[in-house]
Amino acid sequence: MSEKLKLKGNLKPLVPNCDLNGYFEITKKLDLPSVLFKNKVFFNDFDTSTTTPDKTIFLQKNKPLLAQGKNIYSIDNAFSYLNDGDIILIKEQTISVAYRKNANATFLLLTEQCDNFCIMCSQPPKAINDEYIVDQLMELIPLLPKSLHEIGLTGGEPTILGNKFIKILNLINAYLPNTSVHVLSNGKSFSDDFLKKISERKHYDLMFGIPLYSHNYETHDYIVQSKNAFNETVEGIINLKRFQQKVEIRVVIQKNNYKDLPDLANFILRNLQFVDQVVFMGLEMTGFARGNASDVWVEPSEYQSYLKEAITTLSRAKVRCRIYNHQLCILDRSLWEYNVSSISDWKNNFISECENCLLRSSCGGFFATSDNRLPQKIKAFK
Ligand code: SF4
Repeated sequence: MSEKLKLKGNLKPLVPNCDLNGYFEITKKLDLPSVLFKNKVFFNDFDTSTTTPDKTIFLQKNKPLLAQGKNIYSIDNAFSYLNDGDIILIKEQTISVAYRKNANATFLLLTEQCDNFCIMCSQPPKAINDEYIVDQLMELIPLLPKSLHEIGLTGGEPTILGNKFIKILNLINAYLPNTSVHVLSNGKSFSDDFLKKISERKHYDLMFGIPLYSHNYETHDYIVQSKNAFNETVEGIINLKRFQQKVEIRVVIQKNNYKDLPDLANFILRNLQFVDQVVFMGLEMTGFARGNASDVWVEPSEYQSYLKEAITTLSRAKVRCRIYNHQLCILDRSLWEYNVSSISDWKNNFISECENCLLRSSCGGFFATSDNRLPQKIKAFK
């Protein structure tokens, strides 16, 4: 497996007193009027001899012998993919790529705090005060392009931020009125008061993705490591619908719940048939999932019959189903029509077996972050 895309790194100052901080859009255009250059940095990845404006980042391999000007830096060649329209955050001579124009998905992480503690969490929560993240995002959102098709809000648990979460939603509504918004939430915070505030403003296309791991409350509570979470989450889903919000149920398939999938499908049909879609997801074996591998990992070949039964039950009742994070060669052929290439491109990879596979272009591939645990029985279509 190859490396995932590098999204964070250090800037090396090439002149004294470099003090650039904040969000900047990458440009490779040298002839921009100064008024349009205000929130931009010039990215020089092509020429060491070019006259360079202040606020320039050279790719390391192109850095000049003698740099002149203000705020001139160089950066690791691994960032050569940066292009016009990408947005970076510069903070104390570090750089994080906040938005890539060519990315297959754009996510904003609102917080690393969470009131669940899922045993397979790929992004383990941190009990820290990270409210500064929201303040940063308030600066980023106005810079995002109006043409952005969809944006995901994630965490941690984004709704734990209360009114700051609403503020972010409203800012997106104001600056990106034609962008779909997908919120990943554990569904435990959707009281009437909170939902009233969310629904006060008409959002263009807002959906909440809520995990529900089993029809059995004990199994769900065990997986999320939170007592009474099942009841709170089901109540949250019902409340979201009472306030006319779109809801997606997310089921991460793992050792503790794969045999429950048919019963969970029946539970959804009897109690939550109004949801907009149900997504069955493969594991990303990083974070807690990696440490808890013996308690969470199940070979996808083990659960194909359960998954097929669950999807057949839901589809017959016209509930829209999707499958994320799976490879075509391990999915039952009758399930291919539900499969979506869902892994973010910066951490999406293929293995050597895939090199000559006829279905590579339509296959979801692998998480680059899961390289210690790949499904068995991967076999190219020839
Ligand atoms: S072998 Fe083909 S179907 Fe299997 S994971 Fe690789 S590309 Fe996908």
